[in-house]
Amino acid sequence: MITKELHTSNRILMGPGPSDAHPKVLQAMATPLIGHLDPEFVEIMDEVKEMVQQTFITKNNLTFVVSAPGSAGMETCLVNLIEPGDEVIIGVNGVFGGRMSEIAERCGAKVHRIEKQWGTVVTTADVKAALEKCPKPKLLALVHAETSTGALQPLQEISDLIHNAGGLLMVDAVTSYCGVELQVDEWNIDAIYTGTQKCLSAPPGLSPVSFSERAIKVLDERKTKVQSWFLDLTLVKNYWAGSKRAYHHTAPVSSIFALRESLRLVLEEGLENRWKRHQEVHQVLKTKLENLGFKYLVEEQYRLPNLNSVYLPEGNDEALIRRKLLDEYNIEVGGGLGDFAGKIWRIGIMGESCTLNHVNMLISALEDMKEFKS
Ligand SMILES: *Cc1c(COP(=O)(O)O)cnc(C)c1O
Repeated sequence: MITKELHTSNRILMGPGPSDAHPKVLQAMATPLIGHLDPEFVEIMDEVKEMVQQTFITKNNLTFVVSAPGSAGMETCLVNLIEPGDEVIIGVNGVFGGRMSEIAERCGAKVHRIEKQWGTVVTTADVKAALEKCPKPKLLALVHAETSTGALQPLQEISDLIHNAGGLLMVDAVTSYCGVELQVDEWNIDAIYTGTQKCLSAPPGLSPVSFSERAIKVLDERKTKVQSWFLDLTLVKNYWAGSKRAYHHTAPVSSIFALRESLRLVLEEGLENRWKRHQEVHQVLKTKLENLGFKYLVEEQYRLPNLNSVYLPEGNDEALIRRKLLDEYNIEVGGGLGDFAGKIWRIGIMGESCTLNHVNMLISALEDMKEFKS
């Protein structure tokens, strides 16, 4: 029988998420529960919706929070927009593009994958070539910030290409949201999802999403039922529609409290200040890492500031050093995925974990550790 109280070490989170949470966010999570249909909670959901619109920089009315992690936001976008037999184009330059493509296939779509080497991005030429093979796609899906590689995908020009072809632009913004510039309306993004545990610095488990008028039209014109009951927007949207509130599922009340506080903190700091902070702390981290002999995976122009993918200096056992960082210095960094497993580290400086203190703690720990060879 387990009788010991729950205990975790006081970690410093510098991996690909979750990131450190602000004490006020953790405190919000411990607020006494209220009912999910309580008028006070309805008001909190309305406030959350408004702040999600502000942080996405969108006026989209169909903006709400899926009661499940980022992957469920991904699935929400795809199951609602795709009907069996639809053709879609998906950029695959890392783990998450691969996951989108897997879900789209399960929705019965014919998927045209734009396969790119991991660590690079999808170019306008790639999209033009894909449109030649598939001139009338239902949608094009791209990952704005590919957390498996640290690459930042430019979106603006590609947005015009897909709209001219009559398709929708769907974007994974899980790691870019509240860390780098992201403009949903300005860039004409039709369907977007994100997560809470990356640059927003809230606990994992929720996924803010937003849909444009064009996307709603596609939804309204569906001939078949959405394959998923839980994620069917036609049902769940009423749950987020203020006065019309009707029971759909029981919202994760405590997580919504935490989300509300994290969004409030983002807006208090200001989105642009927050983007700037990530850029500035990244510059310091980059210089210090390069001084120790680390090398970046992604070309400078397409590098994410908040997720630093780096090769270790020659002669280091990455798994051993990563483990010692965790066990002896309480610092978590991420290992590589796929082809990069055992080769790179993914160092996150996201939200509350994006401070000079974090950079100094990591660099000092490496300098102190006798197994690390710079
Ligand atoms: C983390 C992440 C996801 C998945 O989010 P979960 O909350 O782990 O389900 C999806 N896409 C990207 C780019 C991510 O970084």
